[in-house]
Amino acid sequence: MLYSRYFIPTVKETPSDAEVVSHQLMLRAGMIRKLAAGIYNYLPLGLRSIRKFENIVREEMDRAGAIELLMPSVQPAELWQESGRWSFYGKELLRFKDRKEGEFCMGPTHEEVITDMIRREIKSYRQMPINFYQIQTKFRDEIRPRFGLMRGREFIMKDAYSFDVDSSAADESYDRMYQAYIRIFERCGLNFRAVEADSGTIGGSFSHEFMVLADSGEDGIASCDSCRYAANVEKAEARPLPSVPAGELLPLEKIATPDMKTIADVAAFLKLTADKTVKTLVYASGSGDFVMALLRGDHELNEIKLKNSLGWDEIEMATEEDILRITGSPIGFLGPLGLKEKVTVIADLVVEGMANVAMGANEKDMHFINANPGRDFSVERFADIRMVVAGDACPRCQEGKLEMWRGIEVGHVFKLGTKYSTALNATYLDADGKEQVIFMGCYGIGIGRTVAAAIEQNHDENGIIFPLPLAPFHCSVVALNAKDGGVMAAAGEIYAKLVQLGVETLFDDRDERPGVKFKDNDLIGIPLRIVVGSKGLAEGKVEVKIRKTGEVLLLPVEEGIARIK
Ligand code: ATP
Ligand code: MG
Ligand code: MG
Ligand code: MG
Repeated sequence: MLYSRYFIPTVKETPSDAEVVSHQLMLRAGMIRKLAAGIYNYLPLGLRSIRKFENIVREEMDRAGAIELLMPSVQPAELWQESGRWSFYGKELLRFKDRKEGEFCMGPTHEEVITDMIRREIKSYRQMPINFYQIQTKFRDEIRPRFGLMRGREFIMKDAYSFDVDSSAADESYDRMYQAYIRIFERCGLNFRAVEADSGTIGGSFSHEFMVLADSGEDGIASCDSCRYAANVEKAEARPLPSVPAGELLPLEKIATPDMKTIADVAAFLKLTADKTVKTLVYASGSGDFVMALLRGDHELNEIKLKNSLGWDEIEMATEEDILRITGSPIGFLGPLGLKEKVTVIADLVVEGMANVAMGANEKDMHFINANPGRDFSVERFADIRMVVAGDACPRCQEGKLEMWRGIEVGHVFKLGTKYSTALNATYLDADGKEQVIFMGCYGIGIGRTVAAAIEQNHDENGIIFPLPLAPFHCSVVALNAKDGGVMAAAGEIYAKLVQLGVETLFDDRDERPGVKFKDNDLIGIPLRIVVGSKGLAEGKVEVKIRKTGEVLLLPVEEGIARIK
């Protein structure tokens, strides 16, 4: 590919609306451009990386015996009504009507569509096990689209669905996908963990998430430093807060760790949370510590008034908009047991809110203001609050200590059981001719999110450092001076040879200053670079630079090419 004829619109300045590094770098490297909130154009360079990852996913799905198909992104409401999710899914489901007033949605996931196909096509136990996958565009009207491709509204997902005759066969299908996922993320060179997870709105009996470790991750993970235990903090086994009889004021040390005695300590603790090295877990609400901190703080925050002016029940189902409307600020809290998806949103808010509280909190020992347990709120509600703390003994082996991480959820495997097959009546005839319900599993990978997560883990101050398997090009050939005919001819020859050898090469033939070329090449993160200049050529040599290590080798031309190959 000739750089001068290609399209890589790099940008020097860091875009102000991009919070995380991968988003900033994907914009700066000219990989993506925003069309609307959470909706992006994939520019040529970005698309190449996306395709690279898709191909890895395809190879491993095929290897695991899954079969590729493609389902429509527009789905009829009837199927969602049949599964019960039309009313359950909430606003993330983008709904619309066609000209005949028929109701439809943009598919956020495809359990209904695939189960509908299967109930028509699968009749006999002989047709199973079978597993179908697709790589396709999903739409979820996310409440807070952000971080570029990481949390888009329109995004590419690989989703797979397995169908088995019984529960133990379904376990085998699950395990095959689990192993395929490990291979996929290992092939990309990512530092990740497979963690026990909640099955959320998809439902089902158990699941694992694949988490790329990164400080910018939206999820918390607890893992044992000695056994294989690892779990999403929302799912982790947690210790309860000591119970408190109604009417008794909670001394601070009862909710937090023993050395936490003042609001400043809590502030430090919460700030730690915001820094994402420790994550407290509050079952169901995600906000208990925050509430506690507020209730204990000797300060006048909106949230305290909110609690006093509204009963818990009224704010129990509060959404982000509710909180904004009531408090005028995104700092809010919820009672326990909101809808799961809302809870997740609130948990995000709470982490941000915590940092703010930490800033504003005063130094006094704490007590409740106008918050009399049993009168203003019920202590029983807090019985659900639990916490996970780094350094605690591992709940599984009791020997190791818990470590805590931030992670980006790049993949998720679910054992669905018969949730959808029962709802949609997907059955088969067993060997005795008896009708049985099909057992299902489903398996998702965020394609764009994984590429973004790879950048999150692989970059420096100069730009992206692509792992070779995801790099849009393996190598670039930089001609130092495009006006020098000798240099251009030699560089062109090297380029042609590399292409012939099957190396995906970008030939930087632009008439630009070397500084500009080096900056761009660093930014877009091509793993290997050959620099061709007149000085080197005089000795028959070229410079080979490894993006990751910064290592520069001055090598004879042929040797340089051999190195790259
Ligand atoms: P999250 O918890 O981040 O909202 P999810 O649990 O809702 O994700 P799943 O339903 O498990 O997502 O979908 C499978 C995979 O699709 C996820 O593991 C993730 O990699 C990807 N994914 C989900 N939502 C998005 C999104 N808004 N943008 C990009 N990728 C996404
Ligand atoms: Mg989601
Ligand atoms: Mg999730
Ligand atoms: Mg998930």
